[in-house]
Amino acid sequence: RTVYVNGEYVAENDAKISVFDRGFLMADGVYEVTSVIDGKILDFEGHVLRLERSLAELGMPMPMPADDLLAIHRELVSLNAVDEGAVYLQITRGAPADRDFAFPPEGTPQTVVLFTQSKPGLAGDAAASKGIKVISIPDIRWGRRDIKTVQLLYPSMGKMMAKAAGVDDAWMVEDGMVTEGTSNNAYIVRGNTIITRHLGNEILSGITRAAVLRFAREAQMTVEERSFSIEEAQTADEAFITSATTFVMPVTEIDGVQIGSGSPGPLALRLREIYVDESRKAAV
Ligand code: PLP
Repeated sequence: RTVYVNGEYVAENDAKISVFDRGFLMADGVYEVTSVIDGKILDFEGHVLRLERSLAELGMPMPMPADDLLAIHRELVSLNAVDEGAVYLQITRGAPADRDFAFPPEGTPQTVVLFTQSKPGLAGDAAASKGIKVISIPDIRWGRRDIKTVQLLYPSMGKMMAKAAGVDDAWMVEDGMVTEGTSNNAYIVRGNTIITRHLGNEILSGITRAAVLRFAREAQMTVEERSFSIEEAQTADEAFITSATTFVMPVTEIDGVQIGSGSPGPLALRLREIYVDESRKAAV
């Protein structure tokens, strides 16, 4: 695989990052994951706008114009012949001369890394026709989950707790209310109404979330942006998650309780179909 590191396209085994990189030492960096279908990038504009915001919130500049970032995405997809998969992008505050809690002097070059992941079948229906099961775990992450930082230790531990419980993922709960999944936004459905937590510092503003809520409204579904509890979710008609890499994925069980019929719900599947179709059409 060819990867991009600080201006160069190199074989993954030849890529080098300093041991003093603040991404490595302090999780002082942000990232984006963008899906690829038919060798084209989905929702690039949304992802790049969120990237700019994440960087700004942490006092970091954009290392290059958005168009140049898009060109790198496209070049890597082409070099690695990715038809379906994802592009991962990470930007850190760079590598100062030594480890120090204080930010490095202005002008210290940022570290910019991109790589691709091939995932044949990504846009297909195999996984979605089965759905996923989740458990709930306490949300003990930091207070700025709206910034897409590379501090992913707790979400990673959450995934392992889910695995240990024999399920696929975990929904995190704070003050009795669901925040989001380990790497996705969480939804329930009641009748014709889609319910998902309102935006704020407590969750990441998903790019897929924004698109799916827009499609839901266009399809005459009602959208309620408010928090909900695990108990409410367990008595909902349907549940699902969204993220750039899972699109819309039905949830069939929460903490051992079957949701609705126990099979993927019709609204979730319909929203998935609309999302995949429309994103494919608009891909760049
Ligand atoms: N919430 C969290 C914590 C995430 O890590 C992600 C994606 O990685 C999402 C939500 C979904 O965001 P998006 O739809 O932009 O992928």
